[in-house]
Amino acid sequence: MIVTLTADAPVSTVNAILAAASAAGCETHTFDDGHGGAVVGIAGTVAVADLPGVSAVLEKHRPYMLASREGRPHAPSVVKVGNARIGGGRPVVIGGPCVIEGRAELLEAALATKAAGADMLRGGAYKPRTSPYAFQGLGEEGLRYLAEAREVTGLPVVTEVMEPDQVDLVAHYADMLQIGARNMANFPLLRRAGQANRPVLLKRGFSATIEEWLMSAEYVMAHGNPNVVLCERGIRGFDPATRFTLDLTAVPLIKELSHLPIIVDPSHGTGRRSLVARMALAGLAAGADGLIIEAHPDPESARCDGMQTITPAELAGIIESGRVLHAALMGGAVDAGLGVAPTIGAHA
Ligand code: PEP
Ligand code: MN
Repeated sequence: MIVTLTADAPVSTVNAILAAASAAGCETHTFDDGHGGAVVGIAGTVAVADLPGVSAVLEKHRPYMLASREGRPHAPSVVKVGNARIGGGRPVVIGGPCVIEGRAELLEAALATKAAGADMLRGGAYKPRTSPYAFQGLGEEGLRYLAEAREVTGLPVVTEVMEPDQVDLVAHYADMLQIGARNMANFPLLRRAGQANRPVLLKRGFSATIEEWLMSAEYVMAHGNPNVVLCERGIRGFDPATRFTLDLTAVPLIKELSHLPIIVDPSHGTGRRSLVARMALAGLAAGADGLIIEAHPDPESARCDGMQTITPAELAGIIESGRVLHAALMGGAVDAGLGVAPTIGAHA
């Protein structure tokens, strides 16, 4: 159940709720409602309605009580990643190569990504490759280059972590932990990321339902980490014409169901660089809080995912067009109730 308290609820009420839940053997999580009040999520049902300061009791709610909008209906979450903020404001753009290829290559890509106007840098050091014979990433060496690229550009960095035992190492170097599509339901990894002191970018598994995805977010949150950003990156469709089917319906639907920010990945979502710009803008039009896009100074020579990788100049074009699109959305061309922000990109 979800119990919402008024901002001036006495501490004794919180203590009584926690004691009642503990006596009933129910796990609890206390979080703020974004408006100064506390919310207590209880994995079970106990009698609390008559306590002073209780403003609402919801016994029937979605199974992802921490990720659900029901406990935080009026305040979308904003996740801070270094000096970037994801959610509730202008959309952010994360750009960079699929994989960290080397020190010089990454620094060149990072500077070009920054010059294109991106807010954050991406790049994989540990890669989940379909083939065991494909380049698997540089591991910790890559993480060191990523940290150096952050120092040089000032851009916060996000990179994938694949195993629970890697979480501390990756968190040491990166500003944000990416959990990839193939690991969305890796529950030991989700638990460990929940204990990490870094925000988590949780990609949707390509055969995961919206509810399964939100339950994975719930794992991270229930283990102590409220800073989760969802990423729609395409689901498996029937047509090999595109690598995946970018499910943009997920964006406004997640906004209805959850207070968590959601960003869109048009690179993996399409698998074709010619489609990236249009689908990036479509993601913003759908209400995404940002984009993650694979960009490389020379996409043809990229060591991973080159066919869906764009140039920094193309990335700059998307950021520019995105800014115009948002201005139009905010200017009333589309229902202002969409709640989108006016500008995107670091040049804004
Ligand atoms: C990636 O971001 O490079 C990646 C492997 O993404 P996904 O997990 O969505 O396939
Ligand atoms: Mn990739």
